[in-house]
Amino acid sequence: MAPRAEPPLTGPVTLGDLTREGKLLWCWCADCGRERDIDPATVPLPASFPVPEVGSRMVCSTCGGRKVRTAPELYPGGIEAQRARFRK
Ligand SMILES: [Zn+2]
Repeated sequence: MAPRAEPPLTGPVTLGDLTREGKLLWCWCADCGRERDIDPATVPLPASFPVPEVGSRMVCSTCGGRKVRTAPELYPGGIEAQRARFRK
């Protein structure tokens, strides 16, 4: 029997991965619930920086909270585009 192929070893998604794939960086504040998507290229961190750790370097622009979660974009085109689709 042929050995099963191992899944590729992938680390956490980095800011550089998002930029390369044309994806937005999703940010969510656990204090006030504010959600927004930002262009990863505008984040002043190295391209090799892991996306889940970006939030620890961010401060919410609405409430100043530091419990910011970050992830690769959840919705194609960002949360605003997603909301626009439901508004119709
Ligand atoms: Zn906030």
